[in-house]
Amino acid sequence: MAEHEDLGPLFTLGRVGIMQGSMTASRVLSRHVLAPTLDRLRGTHTMRSLKELEESQWWPQERIERLQAKRLQHLVRYAYERVPYYRRLMDAGSVSPDSIRTPADLPLIPVLSKADVREHSNDLLAEGFPRCELLHGRTSGSTGAPMAFYSTKESRWSRGIARSLRALEWAGVYMGDPVFRLASRGHHGFVSKALFTDMARVFTREKFEDPECFSDSSLQGVVERIARSRPRALRGYASSICIVAEFIRESDIPAPEVGAIVTGGEELFPGQRALMREVFGTEPFSKYSSFENYDIAMECDAHAGLHVAAEDLIVEVVDEDGRPLPPGCVGRVLVTSLHEYGMPLIRYCTEDESSFAEGVCTCGRSLPRLSSVIGRTCSAIYTPSGRRLSTNTLDSSGLVPLGIRQFQLVQEQLDHVTVRVVPGTSASSSGDQSLCAQVKSQFSGWLGDDVAVDVAIVDRIAPTPAGKHLYLISLVRPPAQSATDTSHNTAGA
Ligand SMILES: [Zn+2]
Repeated sequence: MAEHEDLGPLFTLGRVGIMQGSMTASRVLSRHVLAPTLDRLRGTHTMRSLKELEESQWWPQERIERLQAKRLQHLVRYAYERVPYYRRLMDAGSVSPDSIRTPADLPLIPVLSKADVREHSNDLLAEGFPRCELLHGRTSGSTGAPMAFYSTKESRWSRGIARSLRALEWAGVYMGDPVFRLASRGHHGFVSKALFTDMARVFTREKFEDPECFSDSSLQGVVERIARSRPRALRGYASSICIVAEFIRESDIPAPEVGAIVTGGEELFPGQRALMREVFGTEPFSKYSSFENYDIAMECDAHAGLHVAAEDLIVEVVDEDGRPLPPGCVGRVLVTSLHEYGMPLIRYCTEDESSFAEGVCTCGRSLPRLSSVIGRTCSAIYTPSGRRLSTNTLDSSGLVPLGIRQFQLVQEQLDHVTVRVVPGTSASSSGDQSLCAQVKSQFSGWLGDDVAVDVAIVDRIAPTPAGKHLYLISLVRPPAQSATDTSHNTAGA
């Protein structure tokens, strides 16, 4: 999963010169003047899409499923008629477009891997769709080779940004509200069309602070700037927000008012949740998005899983053979974007893992929910006895009392893992040796007897070029025939 690029800032006008009472004015101006103007300039329908999504989130499940089925049938027929890759694939499997009526029929079409997209990128483009109208993007390649893809303005800017805006509304954040982002200002993901981003940012009062520049000497200033901006929301990778939270706790300084906390792009571990709750006094909202599919799912205020934007996307959780798994079972996450007609990606394997939550959400929305913990399938640890440990099952909450600011597992060999930790200042009193022993005991239990653990205390763990913190770097090739210990730690979910 990845924190998507920010092509659609919140059109934040900020305080328009009057502090009190300005929020409403700012929201009205953003929603009814600035955003519609930007829609007209770039030929998109973001605001219309947002209005639709604000209504459909309350529809009964059957009505959403009917809409999904209708959009899926249209997309599959289009893919068969216009996309050489799918025509060939479906002909080879004797699958006619008429045989795909509902999401339950999707397993008739094979899973699409990132390797498939790299290899067949030309054949995945729809014939007759003007290339000049497509947005060219690429994944960050934080855990593998970067992957190029194309997207339509409708899919990306109209529907994708609308999904993002609706997701933020669930956290009580609306267009026009001041937002503080712990993220780099760069144009991630897309290599062109940055002009509109820059134009939109002319209106924006969104504040940025690059986590790449965080240090003990700079964090005080970061906290002060957050406090001064009085944001309605603090956004960023969970790891970046936790660095700030940890600093506040260690320094024993008052935490700034941050409104809602919205994390994305990384797993949000239970210990991190607890830290944010303790320091900022608010329960974070976890958002799941990717470069390729933009916003996919987000927590509502019940904080009991992430609601999938099912009007726009079909999300499947499947086993290694692409067969659907029942709620509660962890598997690979596949995504089909129902509005992508430039380079349709059907049953696209995100390389993330999750499970569907059981039952209905107390918020009243019937949109399906993914469990809160979503990790990367390629970040599993394989052990000599054939177990496969997903980071989903790792409960790192025990590191919080030890004052650990950040950690990263590096598996160099099948039977050896080094845990790199960045201690906060509150961790130093117990001594390095004692700290290492305590960290080691936390991870040894999880990894089991057949994996030796060493702990290395480091000053800093460098993020990926996209600014993401990796919790696991595995230098071990997965065994061809691995057993499946994907047991899910529901207590941590
Ligand atoms: Zn809900």
